[in-house]
Amino acid sequence: MRVSKFTLVLGLGGLVLTVEGTYQSSTCAALAAAFPGDVFYPNSTAYIQANDYWSVQQEDVHPHCFVAPRDTEGVSTAMKLLTSRNASFTVKSGGHTPFAGGSNIANGVTIDLVHLNGINISDDRQTVSLGPGNRWINVTEVLDPLNLAVVGGRSGAVGAAGLILGGGISYFSGERGWACDNVRNFEVVVASGEVVNASPEVNPDLYWALRGGGGSNFGIVTRFDLESFEQGDLWSNELTFPGALNATLLSLFQNLTINGMPSDPAAHSYLSIYYEASLGEYIVNTSFYHAGPPPPAASMPAVFEPFQSVPDAISNTTLVANISTHLGDVPIPYGFRQTWWNTAISATSLDLLTEIVSLFEARNAPLLAASNGSSTTPFLLFQALPLNILTQMQKNGGNALGLKPSDGPLLVVSIPTTWEDPRLDARIESSSRELIAQIERLAKQSNLDNGYVYMNYASSTQQVQKQYGEDNLRRLEEIARKWDPQGKLARLWPGYFKLDV
Ligand SMILES: Cc1cc2nc3c(=O)[nH]c(=O)nc-3n(C[C@H](O)[C@H](O)[C@H](O)COP(=O)(O)OP(=O)(O)OC[C@H]3O[C@@H](n4cnc5c(N)ncnc54)[C@H](O)[C@@H]3O)c2cc1C
Repeated sequence: MRVSKFTLVLGLGGLVLTVEGTYQSSTCAALAAAFPGDVFYPNSTAYIQANDYWSVQQEDVHPHCFVAPRDTEGVSTAMKLLTSRNASFTVKSGGHTPFAGGSNIANGVTIDLVHLNGINISDDRQTVSLGPGNRWINVTEVLDPLNLAVVGGRSGAVGAAGLILGGGISYFSGERGWACDNVRNFEVVVASGEVVNASPEVNPDLYWALRGGGGSNFGIVTRFDLESFEQGDLWSNELTFPGALNATLLSLFQNLTINGMPSDPAAHSYLSIYYEASLGEYIVNTSFYHAGPPPPAASMPAVFEPFQSVPDAISNTTLVANISTHLGDVPIPYGFRQTWWNTAISATSLDLLTEIVSLFEARNAPLLAASNGSSTTPFLLFQALPLNILTQMQKNGGNALGLKPSDGPLLVVSIPTTWEDPRLDARIESSSRELIAQIERLAKQSNLDNGYVYMNYASSTQQVQKQYGEDNLRRLEEIARKWDPQGKLARLWPGYFKLDV
C-alpha cells in the first residue's frame, strides 16, 4: 500500500492527539487522587454545572476535567501538579469572558475557584477580603446590611477576580478609581506553587503588575484585600430616548464627562445605543448613578438635570436602593453568542462621537438584514473616563494600564454584540474588527485617538497590554519573567491576553 505524505501527516496528527488525550486523562486522574470528590469529568452533573459560562462560545469548550480546590493550599497543590506535568490549564472565576478559551480550555484542565468564596471584614471595617470564587452579588449581599461597600462590579453574576484583575469600572470610580486601584493586597499562588502577597509594601512589582497586567501572566490570585468604605443606598436614573435624539444626548453626555463628573465625583454614567428590533429603531439609553446621600424624592443631582429637559423620553426610571438591588437591576442573560471590542478616544469632539454613531449604524444594516429573524443586538457603549477617575487611578503608585490625567477626558468606546445564529459568527467578528479599526482611524485623523484598550471589554485578538505604553509593557514582561522564570504560565495557561515572555 502506498502511504501518501497526507496520510502520514494525518496519522501522526492522530497519534499526537491520542498521546495528548491520554496525558491529560492521567493528569485528571492525578488531580482526582489529590482532590478526592473535587475533580469532575464530562457527562457528570458537577461537570455540567462547572461548565456554566456566560457566553455560548465559552460553554461550547469542554475541558478534560474541572478541578475545584477548596483553599489556597489546594490551589498551590493544583498549580504544582499541573506545571510539573506540563499540563495545559486555565482558571475560572465568574466565567464572564465572552470569547472561547478565555477561562475554559479544550485540551486541558479548568481550575474552578468556586469554593474560594470567603468574604471577611476587618474589625476596623476598612478592609474586605474576598476569595476569587465570589460573584459581585455575593459580596454586596454581605456588605449592604452593614452599610459598607467596595469598588466592584455593576452586574451581580460577574466574577470578582476577572473584573478586578483587568481594571474594574464601578459606580464608585469617580471618587475612588477602578476596582484594581482599591486593592490593598493580593494573595497569589505563583508558577512555582509558592504563596506570596503583593501590596505597596510587599512585592510591589507584582502588586503593580496585577493591577491590569492580566492575571494569567503572573499567578492565581487566591484572595483580594479591598479597601472598603461606608455607603448607604445608591441613587440611579435611567432614561431611554428614540435614536433620532442621539446628537442632543451625546452633546449633553460629552459635557457631563468633561465638566459635570469632575465637579461632582460621586456621579457615574455611561451611554449606550442599540437597535431595538421590537420597535424597529435605535434607542439611546443613559445610565446615571450617584453615590452621595440620595436626594429627596422627585429631585435629582444637579449634574444630571440637563438630561431631564430633553423631550420625548420613552422611559424615565429612578431607583434608590442598596447595591444588591442595583446589581440585579441590569439583568444580562446567559445563553447567547457574544463578542466585545473596544478602544479609547478623547471625549473632546462631538463631531467624532456622532460620526462613530453613523459608522455603527452603517455596519449594522447588512448585519441585521442577514440575521433573518434571529435575535442579533449590536450595542455601542460610551463609558466615561473623566479627569477625576484618571486622577484616582494614580493612587497606590499607579496601575499598569498606562492612563494619565493628561490623556483625558476619555471615553472607552465599546461595541459588544449579542446574537443567536452561529452562522453569523464570522460576519459579526469581522465586521466588529473593521468597525473598531474605522473608529480608531477616524479618531487618529483628528489626533483624538488614545489607543488604550480596556482588557475587560476586549476581543481576544486585540493587543491589550501593547497599548499600555512601551515602558509599561517592558516592565510587565520583566515582572512576569521574574515570577515565572521558566515561562510555565506563558506556555501552559493560554487564552487570555498573554505577555510575550
Ligand atoms: C454582564 C457583564 C457585566 C459586566 N460589568 C462590568 C462592570 O460593571 N465593570 C467592568 O469593569 N467590567 C464589567 N464586565 C466585564 C468583566 O469585568 C470581565 O468580563 C471580567 O473578566 C469577568 O470576570 P470573571 O471573573 O467573571 O471572568 P472569568 O472569565 O472567570 O475570568 C477572566 C480572566 O481572569 C482569569 N482569572 C480568573 N480568576 C483568576 C484568578 N483568581 N487569578 C488570576 N486569574 C484569574 C481567567 O482565567 C480569565 O483569563 C462585565 C461583563 C459582563 C459579561
